[in-house]
Amino acid sequence: MANAFDNAKKLLKRTAGIMGLSEENINYLSTPKKVLEAKLKVGDKEYQAYRVQYNDVLGPTKGGIRYHPNVSLDEVKALGFWMTLKNSLAGLPYGGAKGGVIVNPKELTEEEIEELSREYVRAFHQDLGAWKDVPAPDVYTTPQIMAWMLDEFEKIKGEKEPAMITGKPLELGGSKGRSYSTAQGGVFVLMELLKERKNIKIAIQGFGNAGSNAAKILYEQGYKIIAVSDSKTGIYKNEGLNINEVIAYKRANKTLKGYENAEEISNKELLELETDVLILAALENQITIENADRIKAEIILELANGPVTPEADEILDNKNIIVVPDILANSGGVIVSYFEWVQNLQAYYWTEEEVIKKLKQVIVNSLNKVLSMSKEKNVSLRMAAYIAAIKRILDASKLRGEKID
Ligand code: NAD
Repeated sequence: MANAFDNAKKLLKRTAGIMGLSEENINYLSTPKKVLEAKLKVGDKEYQAYRVQYNDVLGPTKGGIRYHPNVSLDEVKALGFWMTLKNSLAGLPYGGAKGGVIVNPKELTEEEIEELSREYVRAFHQDLGAWKDVPAPDVYTTPQIMAWMLDEFEKIKGEKEPAMITGKPLELGGSKGRSYSTAQGGVFVLMELLKERKNIKIAIQGFGNAGSNAAKILYEQGYKIIAVSDSKTGIYKNEGLNINEVIAYKRANKTLKGYENAEEISNKELLELETDVLILAALENQITIENADRIKAEIILELANGPVTPEADEILDNKNIIVVPDILANSGGVIVSYFEWVQNLQAYYWTEEEVIKKLKQVIVNSLNKVLSMSKEKNVSLRMAAYIAAIKRILDASKLRGEKID
């Protein structure tokens, strides 16, 4: 399996070639500023944990925490790099970070997950905070986990600081609209690209926060969702799935397995379906050199981080498939996390309509920036997004007097 950080660096090199960046600049951008590691004790077990504060020239670092058995330091570095670019592209006052714990939370009790989350904060609290580094949810971490982390942090500090973490439950200072913001942002981008076209078939890989909310919003907008999948299986119906029923089934059974009103397909088959749009909302490295040639979608929306490898990206580009890159497509989550942080700092809370209206403004503005850069440089949307993001980071580092030319 390709290493996510090697992939991130390959994409950086490709962008550097177009921008004419020096080796020094490339080295600077491929090196995380701070890497924190700890062993978290829960009962008689120990779990390896990481926090990578990748780059902070634009502001406090920001990025989610992932609980997954395949977490590795290189994966967390890659995700930290992508957060740095994502925050820059969206024009947010943040650097980028990411965290992870090597654990399968499905094998832990709720009490153990709580203990693990409190341990994470006990290990890293000196480096966290509203003006230092602000975590959020990612794969298999939830608003409840953010609540435990906030509580532990405030107990250690002896004062309230809701802006130290985002993706919190509403009762503890979460933002309205945050729970579905990643999906909503991606849908705004997709709808801008599709314009008035409605008779569109969409397949979605991954049925967690990002994937299931995207399915729900698009279904409510009248699009046909022909297939969805989770880690266990996929389901397919060419006439379109009843997404409300599928969501209710998944909620009741914790899996899509056994859903009867559709044909069962594998995750691999889902990716290769005849569909207009393919939404990737699971994990990294899903479209690789192995299957890129067989992808039939016209548009790919990357709600997941790094789901297409750099080699596959070139193949898709040659096939004229439009790939909306992760750092743009899934930036709705961090944009609304930013709104949550702003509301916490102001101690003044916005309506859901305000949040979603502002999200649309920011993400459509990012899309337009990427579209015009792509035209100007005659490059893919991914390269255009990387160029815009990297330029802002290098400009800021220069203004801070960092000597990298
Ligand atoms: P989640 O934990 O809510 O859901 C993950 C989903 O992926 C689940 O449905 C799971 O069954 C599925 N999955 C896991 N392994 C799979 C596999 N091998 N094949 C197919 N499906 C598989 O996580 P999420 O928050 O929805 O995150 C999904 C992706 O979106 C991740 O790449 C994450 O980094 C990215 N993302 C999430 C947010 C957010 O705000 N939640 C923001 C930006 C990016």
